[in-house]
Amino acid sequence: MRYVWLILGNIWMAPNTIVSALYLGVLAAFGQVRYDGVGEWSVNLLVVEDSWLWRYMDRGGWNGFASGVFVTMREFYPRGYRHEERHVIQQLWLGPLQYPLYVMMSVFIWVFLRDLHSYYHHPLEVDARRYAGQQIDIPKSQWKDSETDRWAWWILLVTSGVLTNAVTSANVI
Ligand SMILES: [Zn+2]
Repeated sequence: MRYVWLILGNIWMAPNTIVSALYLGVLAAFGQVRYDGVGEWSVNLLVVEDSWLWRYMDRGGWNGFASGVFVTMREFYPRGYRHEERHVIQQLWLGPLQYPLYVMMSVFIWVFLRDLHSYYHHPLEVDARRYAGQQIDIPKSQWKDSETDRWAWWILLVTSGVLTNAVTSANVI
């Protein structure tokens, strides 16, 4: 059953994987990431320590991300990896709709649900934390950004992360 799911899901999310392969391939060519094996649902890439990407993610306290079939992480610790793996599984369901849905839900929370955090309360993040056995409810006291400045960093990170990487890599060329 897993194989049927894996095959059909990967066809459905092929656009995500193709776009990701393009910018991750550029990052790999510039020594920012390297192949680190295959997981149950994902192809894994390790961010090369002290590379530009590593430092960029370190500044943001950002350990990893899932993009298409790829999980890219600075460190493959079990819970963090399961979290990212869940984002791959979400894409098997949502396919190319994942990105617009993700951004729309973030914006919806930010605009209409002022007491919630557009990242910590994002349904796809809550789902990933639950799957990984991580803390599910994250109270305001634990938000990494301040209670009022909950928009700028996370939305910016999510929506521009891929673009920023692509543009920055292009500039290097
Ligand atoms: Zn996540």
